[in-house]
Amino acid sequence: MKFVRFGKPGAECPGVVDSHGVVRDLSVVVSDISPETIGADVLRNFSEKEAASLPVVSGERLGCPIANIGKVVGIGLNYREHAKESGAEIPKEPIVFLTANTSINGPFDDVVLPKGSNRSDWEVELGVVIGKRAKGVSEAQALSHVFGYVIVNDVSEREHQLERGGQWTKGKSHDTFCPIGPWLVTSEEVGDEQALDLWCEVNGERYQNSNTSDMIFSVAQCVSYVSQFMTLYPGDVITTGTPQGVGLGLKPQRYLDEGYTIRLGISKLGEQFQRVKRSDEA
Ligand code: ZN
Repeated sequence: MKFVRFGKPGAECPGVVDSHGVVRDLSVVVSDISPETIGADVLRNFSEKEAASLPVVSGERLGCPIANIGKVVGIGLNYREHAKESGAEIPKEPIVFLTANTSINGPFDDVVLPKGSNRSDWEVELGVVIGKRAKGVSEAQALSHVFGYVIVNDVSEREHQLERGGQWTKGKSHDTFCPIGPWLVTSEEVGDEQALDLWCEVNGERYQNSNTSDMIFSVAQCVSYVSQFMTLYPGDVITTGTPQGVGLGLKPQRYLDEGYTIRLGISKLGEQFQRVKRSDEA
């Protein structure tokens, strides 16, 4: 199944996409697509047949498909070709960072660059959505703790990430820097999570074009690894790294600016589209 949240920012309602691609209102079934309902059986057991009888929704904005996400955990340098373009060694263990959940944004909302930013970059990523509490889980057990998958654009201010000392978190956490969605797709519907095409275009030109088979650490390895250091709860999102073709890796390097557009997608998970603006705030 594909779950969505539709409506104005901060007032989204739960929805489901039926077999014809039509959004239906799920409000009579659940109060929201949230850690509580993702962790319960109600969404997992929901069927196409039930979706067909729900009211049709049209012309509504789609927001992030998960409400009240507890944490967003990033994995860095997790594609072989991207590690190469970044001039980095293949990591021996996954690089883990946290992204502030105040950066979460709808999949079609504007990306707003912080004042003075001239090194903001795009990163298409497979986002893993936890469905069952995970603490110290083995690789073999890890996927049974996954509810489904989302597209994440892990927008990154490279100066803040790499040149201001300390952790990557600073470059990843600006408001609007974490567009998620449009759909939360159950793992049953996604099938093999290590065989998904993913791509990203800026101003209509395709820069990233890869497949999750190029990951250094698989989804199962990432979930298991992160769960050795923190407890993962339903609704938490792990972003599993980006493939080659980011602005940082281009020669010459290229970064986002006012008026640019970003379009990105992953097989079975839909597409995102964002316009880039500049913030007047500090
Ligand atoms: Zn990333």
